[in-house]
Amino acid sequence: MNSVDIQFYSEARALFPYLQSIRRDLHRHPELAFQEVRTAGVVVRELNQLGLEVTTGVAKTGVVALLEGNQPGPTILLRFDMDALPIREDTGAEYASEEEGKMHACGHDGHVAIGLTVARILADRREELAGRVKLVFQPAEEGAGGGEAMVKEGVLMNPSPKNCLALHLWNERPLGWMGFSPGPVMAEADFFAVKIEGKGGHGALPQTTIDPITAAAHWITALQTIVSRQVSPHQPAVVSVTQVKGGDSFNIIPPFVEIQGTIRTFEPEVRQLVMERFQQLLHGICGSMGCSAHVEFLLHTPAVRNDAELTAQLQEMVPAVLPDSRLDKRFQTMVSEDMAFMMQDVPSCYFFVGSANPEKGLNYSHHHPKFDFDEEALIRGSAMMAAAAVKLLKE
Ligand SMILES: [Zn+2]
Ligand SMILES: [Zn+2]
Repeated sequence: MNSVDIQFYSEARALFPYLQSIRRDLHRHPELAFQEVRTAGVVVRELNQLGLEVTTGVAKTGVVALLEGNQPGPTILLRFDMDALPIREDTGAEYASEEEGKMHACGHDGHVAIGLTVARILADRREELAGRVKLVFQPAEEGAGGGEAMVKEGVLMNPSPKNCLALHLWNERPLGWMGFSPGPVMAEADFFAVKIEGKGGHGALPQTTIDPITAAAHWITALQTIVSRQVSPHQPAVVSVTQVKGGDSFNIIPPFVEIQGTIRTFEPEVRQLVMERFQQLLHGICGSMGCSAHVEFLLHTPAVRNDAELTAQLQEMVPAVLPDSRLDKRFQTMVSEDMAFMMQDVPSCYFFVGSANPEKGLNYSHHHPKFDFDEEALIRGSAMMAAAAVKLLKE
């Protein structure tokens, strides 16, 4: 065990009351995408207390701060997301949401608390730092485009980072687990909206109509063959239909059906194959049944791709920083993350910190109304992030 590296854990543990109070305060006051005004205010207040230079209003509610080390050197960017979800909390926790219909159900309250704690640890170690740490508090990670907006507003410039790091508390794994792999660690995501048009009419006289519901049903069934029959079993891919809307009566065949869903892939060639087969099946099946079909791809997020060398470096650090952790060096998930936009052109690493504790009932999935995590995970995330930043600036 390296006595220097283990100090990060002791420092983060000593700051546990701070971590918990920030996290619980934010948890009581969740704010949705691009509305993180109070949250940004807490971030600014805490960073100002450390004497940091802070820029506000980046991508509306984002906050960026620069922590200068005592010696010159490169810049490392650390990113923490701040937004909550439109979910009504059902945890019964003493620190439950006080905002009706809004909830920190993904753990971003914890990410902000970790970010502020890392800032405190690093501010105390300024003399060790050869370079700068750019602390980025991002709005609107949950599908509203905060990451891309921050990149467009120049978060990767003045100064440009050598590396970017980010983390996610992960309730699909227990406390003590940590997972990240080189290469794609989170999927490329596409969202689609399809409209299948036929000819409406009397439910008892189908011969006078062109039934879009039957065409939609055949297409949705056939879609399942893309992953099972066309994509290699060695390549991950997901095609999910998540919304079907058509008709509103027992005896009327509707004129159209609307279908939405998502496609997830890791590799560009797999994405291209899925997209092609998706459209061939759509137009082929609908055309053969007399319907016409239109598809719109609404939102695209690239895959989160970890730099191989940097990832190996961080994986090597884990046993020294958190000696009791179980490290999964091949972890990947099909969820997506807009941190991908900051990571696209900068060697970066994104890691997951196990946060579930089934014995305490803290093992509901992210985005569930009963989602809550073991706050011990905040210590582990802070220790790892701070240790990684110091290490990368020492080289
Ligand atoms: Zn989420
Ligand atoms: Zn999240």
